[in-house]
Amino acid sequence: MAEKIQFTIDFDIDLDQYLENHFPEVVDYHILSKALDARGANRGKKPRYTYHLDTIKEGERFARKNEVFKDLGPLKTKPIIVGAGPGGLFAALRFQDYGVPSIIIERGDRAHRRMIHIAKFWRYGEFDPETNVCYGEGGAGLFSDGKLITRVKSPYVQYVMDRMVDFGAPEEIAYLSNPHLGSNKIRLLINKISDYLTSKGSEIYYNTRVEELIYDHKNGESKVVGVRLQDGREMYSDHVILATGHSAKEVYQHLAKHQVGMAHKDFAVGVRIEHPREVIDQIQYGLYAGREELGAARYRLAWEDPGSKKGTYSFCMCPGGYVLSSGTDREGIVVNGMSNYARNSRWSNAALVVSVNSGKDFSPTEILSGLEFQTNIEKKAFEVSCAKASGKELPFQTLQEFLDHKVTNAPLPKTSTPSGLVRTDLREILPQFISDHLAKALHKFNQQLPGFVSEKALLIAPETRTSAPLTILRNKETLESTTHKGLYPCGEGAGHAGGITSAAVDGIKIVMSILKKEKGFEP
Ligand SMILES: Cc1cc2nc3c(=O)[nH]c(=O)nc-3n(C[C@H](O)[C@H](O)[C@H](O)COP(=O)(O)OP(=O)(O)OC[C@H]3O[C@@H](n4cnc5c(N)ncnc54)[C@H](O)[C@@H]3O)c2cc1C
Repeated sequence: MAEKIQFTIDFDIDLDQYLENHFPEVVDYHILSKALDARGANRGKKPRYTYHLDTIKEGERFARKNEVFKDLGPLKTKPIIVGAGPGGLFAALRFQDYGVPSIIIERGDRAHRRMIHIAKFWRYGEFDPETNVCYGEGGAGLFSDGKLITRVKSPYVQYVMDRMVDFGAPEEIAYLSNPHLGSNKIRLLINKISDYLTSKGSEIYYNTRVEELIYDHKNGESKVVGVRLQDGREMYSDHVILATGHSAKEVYQHLAKHQVGMAHKDFAVGVRIEHPREVIDQIQYGLYAGREELGAARYRLAWEDPGSKKGTYSFCMCPGGYVLSSGTDREGIVVNGMSNYARNSRWSNAALVVSVNSGKDFSPTEILSGLEFQTNIEKKAFEVSCAKASGKELPFQTLQEFLDHKVTNAPLPKTSTPSGLVRTDLREILPQFISDHLAKALHKFNQQLPGFVSEKALLIAPETRTSAPLTILRNKETLESTTHKGLYPCGEGAGHAGGITSAAVDGIKIVMSILKKEKGFEP
């Protein structure tokens, strides 16, 4: 019988050697979890890993955990899934596990062709409104950092990790406390998921945009019965899963026009901060900086202003990563971050954002006012970039210039972003309360991580799309829209997820709710 063991060892001790010395009876093991504790490393304390292992001895075997899915057969009408991001793709995958083919409609191109569109945008500013960093097969997840960590507690989290491993992700994602795939590995597995789906009878339409939902209003009840595409074609289904992500502004506008139930949501706006990686490694690891076994160092920072009660915090940290231009509007600039699996670039970046609250920072009466708040900042950033450069370059200030309220004529610094930089006063772009909170928080963060306020750090802006500014309301049990039957708002755009794993989990939850309703099926 497999036995579980747990221990903590110095980061530079070889795991196999340690087991050989301390658990000689163990002949094989699975890592259930592995977590790094580097606290105190900057004061000379050796970083340590805590392992939790499932082990077997001579003559024993691991029991294989193979989930068996009942073949439920097709539904009366194929479910339509709008959007091939993690939410949409994992919904289709889960349907397919139960022998239920579905239809995915995706406005952008296939994953392998997205890179060409995106490279043209980053290098030459040739923006494509249909295929970009957020739109296309794999959704915003495709060019993401591929951090799979989630705060969502659900049995489906393990399913998501296991399925990613089935399609080629490294097995470690199933056990690391901070699983990370990196953009390069995500790109390799997403098209395998889509190809598998079509090989099993699901249909996927790329380069096809849903222009509108089709509604039916009878006996005082409103229902969504299908979708109308950009070329006028119509497709009908009893179940429309709307997994269009938080950038699909036109979708929110359409839903608002048709009085689909939505509510404001707080979100956060700020900048990407980029340091040379060695600065962060030095701050976090001290003497141990540069040791390969530790990887690029991470940080997490948060501070609440005691006066305004507003939080400023780091988000989506990308050690050894890149800063990206990731907008979805021709006349708007948005920044984000990613890294590859190896996390080996010369820079480390993170979002530093300030909370933006409905009713306080934008009007609570107009349903789209949070969206407008974001869009105005993105537009200003684009105007500044056009006025001072070609429109593709990302507005930046060095951290020190920002704190000193200065814009110098110094030569442009080196950076990870392929789009280039344009020096500007970020206070021209960001609302004053955001700049003020950022400035105060930076001083606090420098107390938490001495050296964080570095001459070498850059602030690149604006980081506006941290989460959806709206929630599409849904019934807690059925996960259907509270106002429109047949409509299932899903994932990050619906305000019910924040990240790759939670969006995928949300897609699965919706499928399980539909299977319960249509087939009376409960596992
Ligand atoms: C650069 C970057 C880095 C990120 N890093 C991380 C990370 O490390 N970890 C993490 O957990 N999350 C990260 N995220 C966020 C993560 O990618 C999203 O949370 C996740 O992809 C949301 O999944 P989703 O399926 O809800 O929506 P999305 O992934 O946004 O997918 C929505 C899809 O719907 C399609 N669509 C939109 N409108 C229409 C329409 N009208 N018709 C047809 N199709 C439509 C879009 O083209 C898109 O493909 C990152 C995001 C970005 C942009």
